Amino acid sequence: MARTGAAYLDGLNPAQRKAVETLNGPVLMLAGAGTGKTKALTSRITHLLATGTARPHEILAVTFTNKAAREMKVRIGGLMGEAVEGMPWLGTFHAVCAKQLRRHAELVGLKSNFTILDTDDQIRLMKQLIQAAGIDDKRWPARMLSGIIDGWKNKALTPDKVPVADSGAFDHKGIALYTAYQARLRDLNAVDFGDILLHMVTIFQNHDDVLQQYQRWFRYILVDEYQDTNVAQYMWLRLLAASHKNICCVGDDDQSIYGWRGAEVGNILRFEKDFPGAHVVRLEENYRSTPHILAAASGVIAANKGRLGKTLFTSCKEGEKVRLIGHWDGEEEARWIGEEIEALQRGTRGLDPVGLDKMAILVRASHQMRAFEDRFLTIGLPYRVIGGPRFYERLEIRDAMAYFRLAVSPEDDLAFERIVNTPKRGLGDKAVQTIQRTARSNGVSLVEGARLVCQGKLLGGKGLKELTILVDALDRWHGQVRAEADTHVELAEMILDESGYTGFWQNDKTPEAPGRLENLKELVKALENFENLQGFLEHVSLIMDNETDEQGEKVSIMTLHAAKGLEFPAVFLPGWEDGLFPSQRSMDESGVKGLEEERRLAYVGITRAEELCTISFAANRRVYGQWQSSMPSRFIDELPQDHVEVLTPPGLYGGGYGAAGMSASASPAMAGMAGSNLHEKAHKADVYNSPGWRRLQSRSQQRGMSMPSEARNMTIDVDAVS
Ligand code: ATP
Ligand code: MG
Repeated sequence: MARTGAAYLDGLNPAQRKAVETLNGPVLMLAGAGTGKTKALTSRITHLLATGTARPHEILAVTFTNKAAREMKVRIGGLMGEAVEGMPWLGTFHAVCAKQLRRHAELVGLKSNFTILDTDDQIRLMKQLIQAAGIDDKRWPARMLSGIIDGWKNKALTPDKVPVADSGAFDHKGIALYTAYQARLRDLNAVDFGDILLHMVTIFQNHDDVLQQYQRWFRYILVDEYQDTNVAQYMWLRLLAASHKNICCVGDDDQSIYGWRGAEVGNILRFEKDFPGAHVVRLEENYRSTPHILAAASGVIAANKGRLGKTLFTSCKEGEKVRLIGHWDGEEEARWIGEEIEALQRGTRGLDPVGLDKMAILVRASHQMRAFEDRFLTIGLPYRVIGGPRFYERLEIRDAMAYFRLAVSPEDDLAFERIVNTPKRGLGDKAVQTIQRTARSNGVSLVEGARLVCQGKLLGGKGLKELTILVDALDRWHGQVRAEADTHVELAEMILDESGYTGFWQNDKTPEAPGRLENLKELVKALENFENLQGFLEHVSLIMDNETDEQGEKVSIMTLHAAKGLEFPAVFLPGWEDGLFPSQRSMDESGVKGLEEERRLAYVGITRAEELCTISFAANRRVYGQWQSSMPSRFIDELPQDHVEVLTPPGLYGGGYGAAGMSASASPAMAGMAGSNLHEKAHKADVYNSPGWRRLQSRSQQRGMSMPSEARNMTIDVDAVS
């Protein structure tokens, strides 16, 4: 059957080849990062197609992100030497399941045109149900219920199947509310995200004919990133594969990073039980990374207890050690990484020039992106954000910016329309229409129109009162901008506060709310780099402008979660500080579960790098204008010293880089920028003359210790320098 000598088989090692050619029966490929799991999986699909064993629609292939699905199609096309037609069932779990559910919606009481609710709608609905049940939603917030119900759905538990042990959930009303919620969704002809899988599992369990139809249809099943499947996804797969058992799953227990969303590493162990006699493939050669990078990653992950354990080796050339550098603060870190990227792009230290699209910055939390986006815009370095909106495109940032724009320029009608009822102040469509009409007939801006509406009492009670408050506030803020009474940073905080916008997100119980508040803090932090609000607004409009230029090579910025499965020649891993990475939440948790998941995330991060991996941390982060000192991440201490080179930030020891052989001088663009403003110079001088920094340096030198371990043993006296 196998057409030997096919080009796509030549590039595989014997273990991979075996996995590719073992087409029938269960196959489990369990192997570390970069060992060619995804390559084997795509080769397997190619093999199925090229040998005529299966037609495109007979193959079900699931991955975790749309990007991964797209990439897989491209890879298969490349291997086949022609574009792949169809492959209608290659996609993410949710995309594939939603497609199935549309065909069988009536079996779970839905119509095929059901809507998929977003988190906001979902929470709003739950809130109504909680209130209707006479429960105090302050004590028992909808977000909490949503978490509980999602957890059940991830385990494929319909309300009638929730175990008795869970009956105490949500003040003993959890299950009843879950039942009510599902009924309400059905009335609305809607599903939430978790339902998509849950409904399909239910349909397969209750309608054998439907299940059999799909079992005949999907003759071959393939799953990438298997370690991140939850129970519902696993059940769905197991049902589909039950008759022919032609299922091939590939994964790495060390890269399981979605435990917080219900993923169960136990699915890997379960596989061998459910599919006895499975052909288990272990791959040990890593083809992606240099020995230093691999050793660093292995060193970190070795600290985890709950592992299946495996060894990895690489024949890649030795290359550079993993580089570690501490910075004074986050801005400095962004500045340094920007310079490094430019240096790499030009080709330094005898290295070949590295294209921008071969470099990536992987962050733990999306608010970290802001400093990089700002810096890169300033030095004109093209970048793209993968897997989410760019910082200044986010909803809360746009809202906040609209307030700032109005404070600077009350004629900004678009900004006014955006915020007039955000947060909700009872000024709905009708009120807005009245304002617009009044403004138009008087030939004035909306703010002026609103003032006339207030004066003429053209609105009813509450609306009128709220509008008056808003107009007064806008006047006050604008007055302050003109008078330059407060610093623009204080003013910005005040605006977000007085407008009720910060409070609005503080009271919001959706899972996104804490992240949005972080972003707002980050926005205020960004302001500190500018003389005034006006200058800042100009900067941001430039960023938005920059966005239209889609061509050309760009540096990628993304979260560690979004980077799963990807690889880049040069990777920067900033923000390795306790509280940021590992996250504060994982550190506060009792037990090591959360911490171990963070450590796996660190492993994912390091193993994305092919040739150059640079880890960095900042000794201080500014939050709301206050310095907060931070300790280097505990993961830094777990890096094996032999494979790490500690760099010294420029400015110490008379500039340049302390570590041997490093001489990344500032780019021409940077030469003009660095220290160009007095404040910046003074700040720099202060930093490197600061007692804390010097103490840290001398102690780490004296004791021959790395800076980070030393920093963990002492506190930097930030007050002395700020
Ligand atoms: P991850 O766990 O990060 O998802 P992976 O195991 O899926 O990694 P791949 O992305 O498939 O690994 O492969 C990593 C790199 O190694 C890719 O650039 C791939 O082309 C290359 N590679 C895989 N197998 C081989 C091989 N047998 N010979 C040469 N290169 C290979
Ligand atoms: Mg992969």
